[in-house]
Amino acid sequence: MKRYSAFAIAREALRFHTGWERAWRTPEAKKHYDVVIVGAGGHGLATAYYLGKNHGITNVAIIEKGWLGGGNTGRNTTIIRSNYLQDESAAIYEKARSLYETLSQDLNYNIMFSPRGVMMLAQTEHEIRGYKRTEHANRLQGIETRFISPAAVKKLLPIIELSGPRFPVLGALWQPRGGTARHDAVAWGYARACSDMGMDILQKTEVTAIQQKAGQVTGVETTRGTITTGKLGIVVAGHSGQLADMAGFRLPIESVALQALVSEPIKPCMDVVVMANTVHGYMSQSDKGEMVIGGGADGFNNYTQRGSFHHIEETVRALIETFPIVSRLKMLRQWGGIVDMTGDRSPIISKTPLGNTFINCGWGTGGFKSIPGSGWAMAEMMAKGEPGELAAGFGLDRFREGRFIDESVAAGVAH
Ligand SMILES: Cc1cc2nc3c(=O)[nH]c(=O)nc-3n(C[C@H](O)[C@H](O)[C@H](O)COP(=O)(O)OP(=O)(O)OC[C@H]3O[C@@H](n4cnc5c(N)ncnc54)[C@H](O)[C@@H]3O)c2cc1C
Repeated sequence: MKRYSAFAIAREALRFHTGWERAWRTPEAKKHYDVVIVGAGGHGLATAYYLGKNHGITNVAIIEKGWLGGGNTGRNTTIIRSNYLQDESAAIYEKARSLYETLSQDLNYNIMFSPRGVMMLAQTEHEIRGYKRTEHANRLQGIETRFISPAAVKKLLPIIELSGPRFPVLGALWQPRGGTARHDAVAWGYARACSDMGMDILQKTEVTAIQQKAGQVTGVETTRGTITTGKLGIVVAGHSGQLADMAGFRLPIESVALQALVSEPIKPCMDVVVMANTVHGYMSQSDKGEMVIGGGADGFNNYTQRGSFHHIEETVRALIETFPIVSRLKMLRQWGGIVDMTGDRSPIISKTPLGNTFINCGWGTGGFKSIPGSGWAMAEMMAKGEPGELAAGFGLDRFREGRFIDESVAAGVAH
């Protein structure tokens, strides 16, 4: 694979862009792979990438029923932060955030990481207490966050209205190295690197059954035939329950639609990411100028990739209280994704009751930010057969043992 560089751009400009290679191959499926990963979202692709890069395992297929990055990875609002409360979460989210810092160089693909800073507004006394507690926890975990005053919020974010009618802004938890990245580019960059290592990305191929013998996985049935494998990774977010059912076990997961919307592009007016969890809305401005707005999750389980209509109204109404300029914006597009919610709002990175089968899910409304760290941890577990330090706390056994990693303050909201 030819490297992307400033020189390559100049060379291709001179020859009318006829020399670019396809970023990834479209291969025929082989009969057998050492590892099969179901789901070519960010987490599945990152798992494959670190299997190759960190563990030298490259006879890998990534099987995707639609197109790569077409699930939640291409539908989210791209917020990256690591200001979680519990040590296990802070460790994996911070690992991911730190990998994002150099991911463009690592993948030789511009993922447009923009550490512009993320603030979570405190609009009740309860939120002040919660965020101050997180600030102290983050200090012990070596993560840079701080609780800032309303005046500091206004300085960073001049378009905000501090004295909202219902919920005045009382401060914010500020993470200066949080930010955003281009979500498609994260999927594309990992896909290109995986393909370059000889891995096969099989798009438009749905896994319809999981084959097993004597408690061990032996292969998967797909819409393009049977593929045998030594190890299976299930990384399908909102469809995890369906794949677990095929493998013969149950998951403590609920699948609901979460939605987002973008406005028409406007002049640059905010250069930070803001989350307002009490009124439930969050917003950033894309490089094109659109205001990217995240809304709420449906209150009932479903698989419709749209979300209920009333959430748009609720989200915009909530944001207008704190950002009056939103009232004069026209909205361009709205969409939804199926998110996989656990009871403690923490992910599952785990061995399963089926031998040599591993699952990575439960990232819910907030798994874009964790893609590199999650892929790193999942690859380590799949290569060694046991979870490493990063994944150790996130096993399925915690639900049986009541050992929850409660992140309802940091992750019980959409983001
Ligand atoms: C509206 C919205 C906003 C969000 N905002 C943020 C945010 O700001 N920050 C953040 O960190 N997170 C956010 N998230 C969450 C984040 O998008 C997800 O947690 C993350 O993208 C999950 O990635 P994934 O790779 O696990 O899943 P996905 O990207 O959904 O990939 C799973 C893939 O599995 C495939 N698949 C399913 N079943 C099968 C099958 N039987 N056979 C083959 N393939 C199959 C699907 O087609 C899909 O492509 C948001 C989510 C949504 C919906």
